[in-house]
Amino acid sequence: MEHLLDPEERAHHDQMLRLVTGRWARSAHTWERGEILPEEVVRWCGEAGLLGAALPSAVGGGGWSPIEAGLMYEALGRVSVSLASLVNVHGMMAQTLARWGTAWHREHVLPALGEGSRVAAICMTEPHAGSDLAAISASLLEKANRLLVNGTKVFITFGRRADDLLVFVQREGRSEACLVRRDNPGVSIEPMGDVLGLRAAGLARITFSDCEIAPEAVVGKPGFALPVLIPTALEHGRHAVAWMALGMLEACFAECARFVRTRRAFDRTLIDHGQVQSLVTRMGADLEAARHLCVSASRAMGAKDPAATERILLAKYFVCRVAQEHTASAVQLLGSSGVSEQSVTARAYRDAKVLTIIEGTEQILERSLAPALVNAVAEAS
Ligand SMILES: Cc1cc2nc3c(=O)[nH]c(=O)nc-3n(C[C@H](O)[C@H](O)[C@H](O)COP(=O)(O)OP(=O)(O)OC[C@H]3O[C@@H](n4cnc5c(N)ncnc54)[C@H](O)[C@@H]3O)c2cc1C
Repeated sequence: MEHLLDPEERAHHDQMLRLVTGRWARSAHTWERGEILPEEVVRWCGEAGLLGAALPSAVGGGGWSPIEAGLMYEALGRVSVSLASLVNVHGMMAQTLARWGTAWHREHVLPALGEGSRVAAICMTEPHAGSDLAAISASLLEKANRLLVNGTKVFITFGRRADDLLVFVQREGRSEACLVRRDNPGVSIEPMGDVLGLRAAGLARITFSDCEIAPEAVVGKPGFALPVLIPTALEHGRHAVAWMALGMLEACFAECARFVRTRRAFDRTLIDHGQVQSLVTRMGADLEAARHLCVSASRAMGAKDPAATERILLAKYFVCRVAQEHTASAVQLLGSSGVSEQSVTARAYRDAKVLTIIEGTEQILERSLAPALVNAVAEAS
C-alpha cells in the first residue's frame, strides 16, 4: 500500500494503523460473541475523531480527504468490519445531511454528529424493499397538521445503538427522507441477531408507528430521496466498504503469510509446496490490484472527477468479490487453525460474504458497471 501513497498519506496511514490496531487488535472476537460493540468502543470512535473524520470542517467534522478516510477504513477493516461499519453508516448519514441538509440541520444536528457525541444510522431497507428502493413503503403523512412516519425498516446497522436515524419514506408517491430520533415516541427497536457476518454491527429492525416529526426534520425536496439522497449516501458507503474489505484482506494475507512460512508438512514449509504458492500468489496479486482500485477511487472522489462514481463502483465490486474468494483460500491454507473463531480468517470468511451484499449486491453493481465498461471501450475505439 505504502508505494501508492505520498509521504503525508503514508504518515496518516501509519497513524491510523497505530491508533486502531494498537488499541483493538485482539478485541473483535469478543465483540462478535456479544453481537454489539461495547459502549466504550463507540465512545472511543467519537473521541478519536473517527466518526466525524470525513465530514466537512464547516459542520464540525475533520474535513479528511477521501484518501485519508479510505486509509482509516482500511485500518478499521483490519481489526473488525463491524467496527468499520459503525463509522461507515454514521458517515453515510452525516455526509448526506452535510451535502443536502438545511441550515437548521447544520446548526442543530450536524455538530453532534461531527464531534461523535451522537451516533447516526441510515434506514433504507424494508422487508419487501432491499435492492429495489423504489419499492419503499414506509410513509410520511400529514394528518391534522402533524407529520407522521409509519413503516418498518430491517437490517439497520447499529440500529440498536444509533441516536439519529435518516429514514427513507414515500410521501404521496414521491420519495423523501426525514430525521427521527431514537427516543421519539412511536419508534420501537428490536435487535436482529444470529447473522452470518458483521455480527457485532448491532443490527436492528425499527418500526415507526404514528411517529411524529417536526417539519424541520424533513431532508431534501419531495421526490429528491431516490435520485439524489440515496446515491449520495451509497457513494460514501461503497467507497468505505471497498476500503474496509481491503483492510480485512490485508489482515488475512498477513495471517496466511506467517502461517505458510512456518507451518511444515511433508518435510517442507507450506510455502515450498506448489499448490500453496498458487493460492498465495493469486491472493497477493488480487490484493495489489485491490489497493490500486481503492486509491484510484479515492483520488477520483477527491478530485470531483466525473468518473468517480464508476471508480468507486468498480473498487467496491472488485475488492468485495476477491475478498470473498481469498478469505475462503485463507481458511483453506490455515487448515483447522483457520476454522477457529479466534482466527482472523474465520471471521473474515463470514464477513466477506456479507460485504458482497451490503451497499449494493454484486448483481446490482453489475447492472451499472457492465454498460459503463462496455460504453467506455466503444467510445474509445
Ligand atoms: C449485515 C447487513 C447490514 C445492513 N445494513 C443496512 C443498513 O444500515 N441500512 C439499510 O437500509 N440496509 C442495510 N442492509 C440491507 C442491505 O442493504 C440489503 O440487504 C441489500 O441492499 C440487498 O437487499 P435484499 O437483502 O432485500 O435483497 P434483494 O433485493 O431481495 O435481492 C435478493 C437477490 O436478488 C438479486 N437481485 C435483486 N434485483 C436484481 C436484479 N434486478 N437483477 C439481478 N439480480 C437481482 C440480488 O442481487 C440478491 O442476490 C444491511 C444488510 C446486511 C446483511
